[in-house]
Amino acid sequence: SRVLSSSNFLLLCTLSGGGVVAYSESQTGAERPSIDGSGPSKKKVVVLGTGWAATSFLKDLDASLYDVQVVSPRNYFAFTPLLPSVTCGTVEARSIVEPVRNIIKKRKGEINFWEAECVKIDSSNKKVFCRSNIDNLVGSGEFSLDYDFLVVAVGAQVNTFNTPGVKENCHFLKDVEDAQKIRLSVIDCFEKAVLPSITDEERRSILHFVVVGGGPTGVEFAAELHDYVLEDLIKLYPTAKDKVKITLIQSGDHILNMFDERISSFAEQKFTRDGIEVETGCRVVGVNDKVITMKAKSTGDICSVPHGLVVWSTGISTLPVIRDFMKEIGQAERHVLATNEWLRVKGCEEVYAIGDCSSITQRKIMDDITAIFEAADKNKSGTLTIEEFQEVMDDIILRYPQVEHYLKQKHLRDFSTLWKDLQGNESKEIDVEAFKLALSHADSQVKSLPATAQVAAQQGAYLARCFNHRDHAEEHPEGPRRFSGSGHHKFVPFRYKHFGQFAPLGGEQAAAELPGDWVSMGHSTQWLWYSVYASKQVSWRTRVLVMSDWTRRFIFGRDSSGV
Ligand code: FAD
Repeated sequence: SRVLSSSNFLLLCTLSGGGVVAYSESQTGAERPSIDGSGPSKKKVVVLGTGWAATSFLKDLDASLYDVQVVSPRNYFAFTPLLPSVTCGTVEARSIVEPVRNIIKKRKGEINFWEAECVKIDSSNKKVFCRSNIDNLVGSGEFSLDYDFLVVAVGAQVNTFNTPGVKENCHFLKDVEDAQKIRLSVIDCFEKAVLPSITDEERRSILHFVVVGGGPTGVEFAAELHDYVLEDLIKLYPTAKDKVKITLIQSGDHILNMFDERISSFAEQKFTRDGIEVETGCRVVGVNDKVITMKAKSTGDICSVPHGLVVWSTGISTLPVIRDFMKEIGQAERHVLATNEWLRVKGCEEVYAIGDCSSITQRKIMDDITAIFEAADKNKSGTLTIEEFQEVMDDIILRYPQVEHYLKQKHLRDFSTLWKDLQGNESKEIDVEAFKLALSHADSQVKSLPATAQVAAQQGAYLARCFNHRDHAEEHPEGPRRFSGSGHHKFVPFRYKHFGQFAPLGGEQAAAELPGDWVSMGHSTQWLWYSVYASKQVSWRTRVLVMSDWTRRFIFGRDSSGV
């Protein structure tokens, strides 16, 4: 990202209700006069992003308490779980986006929105530098904003693992534009493949669709594409029948490996029945416009196969603006911006980070827990009796209720298995070292909450609640119960509640992992998916649009014009 000269930003104009307030770089938020010239000035909150985390924060924030400014290169919120449906026209792009101005106009108080990208965060001067990318701008489109509190919710970018040719030759599925491009390219492949000048071999290559990444997004896209081909395109392009092939490449041993094993194997069996080829244990090592090259992890064999379209969906990495910021605040060695459990960026007093760009670090808690264990091991034998162990765990759970919550988390399976093993330990002696190891493993897994909309939205809502109660907490430092805590923290730390996750598998079937270790698969789960996703829409407008798209698809099928 470009580093901007601060001299460009000496004067910043904030437009508000027709009035213009100018203030110099040296003025901090606290000194700035109030925008309407009356009463004490409000603290300035700058929010970066309009995705899941930022929108959830804005929806729950009492904006009358702050001077709120939002910066994002996208002037809309996109309901990302339905992006795979947009790639095949099951749902229209317009139906899953909500203009951010619609969202903020419904808020109490004033919120300003600037369509621009933040290119630099200067936390020592409490300032962000932004640049607008709108076409044909008058002026440079560059400006800076001062803040008292900064909420960083910029998400992440696609991770290509620096694989040669991926950026140039693959499609990504991260944003609405990506989904629209895929939709056009799929139709183009079919139109190309039926041209009279094409040989059968070329036809097969053009109609070979490759999906890289066996996570929920890759699996859902492969399933959507399969349905689209089978239910709509084959009828329109009969000569393409028998030439279409969909391959899903996964570097791990199973697809959907973050789900319960029953779901992984259900999905693999369904894909085999549907004729979707699943290549597990393979790493893609290069892509060009004609072939994709992969290496088998077990044998090291390399093979290249021709393709018509590749969709790359292998996870996320940090955005350049966040990487630069991390270097500045001493987090250069990390992959994601580290926050404490109150979502405050480590090393920056007034900067909060939520959603995919951040990760909670809880080392202190785990250190404390380890110390509790060590204290319980009075004779330093390295073992505890089962009674001592139970006592220690009761103490830990009393102090850190989240530990009990960790045990119910699927992604901390090792930890809970070990706990259960230890409790059923015949020798009635607990190996403290083994337990500490499991705890530290759980700790590192806890640090990386899954990068999902669910986490991002809960963090946004939590942070908004903290902001709404900030004044009250300042006035009553002793605090009511919910603010109790030690040190300077007045709020209970953020706790993630997992409400389950879905994996649509095509053919009106889906799999779901639900709270309480419930696993549900099949047609009825697909109906559950429809109802949950309809209810989770950000507005009634998008809810009605999405439901009418589903109905249209049931009656008329998907549109194949690609426009
Ligand atoms: P985002 O929602 O990505 O928002 C980031 C925002 O920051 C955007 O508005 C962007 O324009 C803005 N921004 C970017 N750079 C800058 C900058 N420099 N300055 C200012 N603003 C900037 N999760 C689930 O829980 N369930 C699902 O079913 C699911 N399905 C998914 C399907 C797909 C295809 C994808 C791509 C993701 C899916 N996810 C799902 C994951 C989920 O979308 C992300 O975890 C979630 O979007 C993260 O929210 P966020 O607010 O951190 O980032």
